[in-house]
Amino acid sequence: MAEQQKQAQEEKGSKKNCANCNKPVKRIAFYYRNGNFFCGKNCFKLYDKKMKEEKLKKLEEEKKKQEEEAKKKVEVEQVQAVAPEQANKEKSAGEQPA
Ligand SMILES: [Zn+2]
Repeated sequence: MAEQQKQAQEEKGSKKNCANCNKPVKRIAFYYRNGNFFCGKNCFKLYDKKMKEEKLKKLEEEKKKQEEEAKKKVEVEQVQAVAPEQANKEKSAGEQPA
């Protein structure tokens, strides 16, 4: 029983998988960057590229979302501006001569 536990601990401690290709990374060969293990510099570069592309995609999606929300806001403001009573009240109050 105790031996099994020891083995499990050793496996947990020494085996890491490459964040890019998910291959087990050997201790001598691993490449450690940004909290992830890679089996080599190449895998790190590929992974880094992938992450950057995903980040860009996310940013673009967020930008699109914001633009759509801004559009909606403008539409709502236009509808409010067209409401005649409110517009008249504000207009006469602002145009009163001193
Ligand atoms: Zn790899």
